[in-house]
Amino acid sequence: MSSDRVRQRNLSTVLSLVHRAQGASRSQLTQATGLNRSTIAALVGELADSGLVVETEPPASNRVGRPSPVVTADPSVVAFTVNPEIDAVTVGAVGLDGTVHRRIRCETDRVPSAAEAVSLAAATIGSLASSLPPGTRAVGVGVAMPGLVRRDDGLVRLAPHLGWVDEPFVDLLQSATGLPVVAANDASLGARAESIFGAGRGVGTMVFLNGGASGVGGGAIVDGVPLAGVDGYAGELGHTLVNSNGRRCHCGAIGCLETEVGQQALLAAFGVARGDDDDLDALLASSRDSAVLDEVTRQVGFLAIALRNIINVFNPEVIVLGGFLGALHGVAGDRIAELATATALPGPREGVVIRRAELGSRRLLIGAAELAFAGLLADPAPVP
Ligand SMILES: [Zn+2]
Repeated sequence: MSSDRVRQRNLSTVLSLVHRAQGASRSQLTQATGLNRSTIAALVGELADSGLVVETEPPASNRVGRPSPVVTADPSVVAFTVNPEIDAVTVGAVGLDGTVHRRIRCETDRVPSAAEAVSLAAATIGSLASSLPPGTRAVGVGVAMPGLVRRDDGLVRLAPHLGWVDEPFVDLLQSATGLPVVAANDASLGARAESIFGAGRGVGTMVFLNGGASGVGGGAIVDGVPLAGVDGYAGELGHTLVNSNGRRCHCGAIGCLETEVGQQALLAAFGVARGDDDDLDALLASSRDSAVLDEVTRQVGFLAIALRNIINVFNPEVIVLGGFLGALHGVAGDRIAELATATALPGPREGVVIRRAELGSRRLLIGAAELAFAGLLADPAPVP
C-alpha cells in the first residue's frame, strides 16, 4: 500500500474514532489504533489543520499530573438532515462532534408532494444555515426517508404513506440547495444511529426494529457494516410473515408483522385515538385493564415470532426495539425475550440480548447526519 493510502486510511481511522467516541485523548487514540504516539500526534495535527478536530484541555480534576488534552470532532463541521413525514418536514443541523445544533419541524396541512417537501426543506436549510455561527461548514444533507430508497441514485422507489412513487427527491434537493444530498430508509438510519451512539454501541451485529405510527421498520448492522442489500432495500422486517391467517397488508401480502403489531391497536385498547410511545409508556405502566392486557399479549406473541426469525437469520448479539415496540418491551421485556428465544435455534438464541432503544426522537436526525458524514469520515480530505 502506498504511503499516501496508509496516511489516508489512518486519518480516516482517527477521525472516525474521535467522532464515534465523542472525544478521546491522544493516549486513548494510541491504544485504540496501535499506532505510535508521534504518528497519532502528526495525524491529529493534520486533522486540526484541516479544521476537522479541535484539542481542548479537560476540566481540572483532582488527579496528580497534567491531564491530557481531549481531541474532539469540530462542531462547526455540520450536516443538514431532512425527514419528510405525512404531516411535517423536519430539518436539522448536526455537528461532526454529535451536537444537535438545531431542529425545526415544519408542519404541513396535508401530506406533502415530493416537490413541496423539497422546497420546504431547501428554504428551511437556507434559513438554518444563516442562523449558524460564522465559520460553520456544511458537508451535505442526509435524508431519512419513510420508504424504499435506491442506493445508487437516491431515487425514492416507494414511500407508501407519503404516496410517493419513483420520486427523484435527492436530485431535486441537490439542485435546490447546491449541497451533496444522500438518502436512505429511515429505520436503516435509526439502526445506524443506535449502533453508534445508542443501545447498540460497541456491538458488531445488531438488528433494530422500530414501531412508528405508520408501521414497523427495521435495519441491520452486520459485523459493523450497515446491511444495504444489492440496491439498498434490505431490512424491511415489518413485512416479515407472522400470521398466515392474518389481515392483508398495504404491501399486498397477508399477515405481515406491521399488520399484526401496531401502535394504533394498542392506543385503541385504551380508548385513545392519538399518542406516541411516551404516552403509551404512561398508559401501559398504570393499566390493569384486561382488554389492554389481552392486546399486549396478542402483540407480544406476534412480535416474538418476528424476533425468532431475526435471531435465526441474523444471529445478532443485540436486538434493539424502538418506538411503540420499545414501550411493549418496557412492560413485557422478559416475556418477549422468553417467547422469542424459546423457539429459536440453539446457537443463535444463546446470549442474544433484546433491549430498548436509547436515542428517542433524536434517532433519525443522528442517523441521517451519519449518512451525510460518511464520505468525509472515509476520506477526511480538507473541507473547502
Ligand atoms: Zn406487508
